[in-house]
Amino acid sequence: MIDIVVAKNAGFCFGVKRAIDMLDDIVNDKKIKKPIYSIGAIIHNDIVIKKYSERGVIIVDEEKALSLKDSTVILRTHGVEKRIHEKLLENNNYIIDLTCPYVKKIHRLVSQYTDMQYKIIIIGDKNHVEVKGIVSYGKDNIAVVNSKEDIEKLKFDKNEKIVIMFQTTANIEKSKILVDILLNLFYNCKSVMTICAVTSDRQKEVDMLSKNAEAVIVVGSQNSSNTKKLYEISKKNCDDTYMIESKEDFDKLDLKNIKSLVICTGASTPKEIIEEIVLNARAKF
Ligand code: SF4
Repeated sequence: MIDIVVAKNAGFCFGVKRAIDMLDDIVNDKKIKKPIYSIGAIIHNDIVIKKYSERGVIIVDEEKALSLKDSTVILRTHGVEKRIHEKLLENNNYIIDLTCPYVKKIHRLVSQYTDMQYKIIIIGDKNHVEVKGIVSYGKDNIAVVNSKEDIEKLKFDKNEKIVIMFQTTANIEKSKILVDILLNLFYNCKSVMTICAVTSDRQKEVDMLSKNAEAVIVVGSQNSSNTKKLYEISKKNCDDTYMIESKEDFDKLDLKNIKSLVICTGASTPKEIIEEIVLNARAKF
């Protein structure tokens, strides 16, 4: 029989579980006006999103969100830009904020350091919705970097007060390298750790498990930043690493005669999907 190891940190993270529990209550609450609008995906998992769209949650983009009036609107776990939040309030919407408290903490830090006249450098993906939200809490004092090349393009003066912060799902090892470069470049520079502990624990665990693995399955959506990072870490250690979203994807994999399998997941993957994959793997091998 195949030996299957499921990562200890698999399944929903704290922030996603909190959001989904709250969303269940909202969907079931007859007193809350329906439909419920979500600005972008509630979490990065298409299977979960489909489930809620069948229960009346409508996903809208940022532009549509600006025109919502007197409606029920939820803010996704990764947060939204400040201008959108303000417009939703102005338009008398009933807002249910599912933003993860760790993301909200970064919003607060950015506002505070902006008030203290700091320049702020965020290490992360400038196109990711979480980072766009974080940046919106600063003014013209904030820049996003994700590589040495990005750092070379920074326009901040070497003597300015600089604080470095991180996208919650930033890659820890890569971030350390970029922080070292920045600390050497700016004379008055410090960093505030904002990578979520969930992210770092998962990255460390997948690094450890994948080193001796025959095959690794990373379960999560293609558009999930933390899932992609787990895949990259595992792939470096184990060539037979696969990123999948569902048990159907697992069934299509060409895994031949493996005796052991490691399963880990992004922060938005429900436990039920892991259980289905484990059952299929046991039936197959
Ligand atoms: S990974 Fe961390 S920051 Fe992101 S939703 Fe989960 S607990 Fe919050």
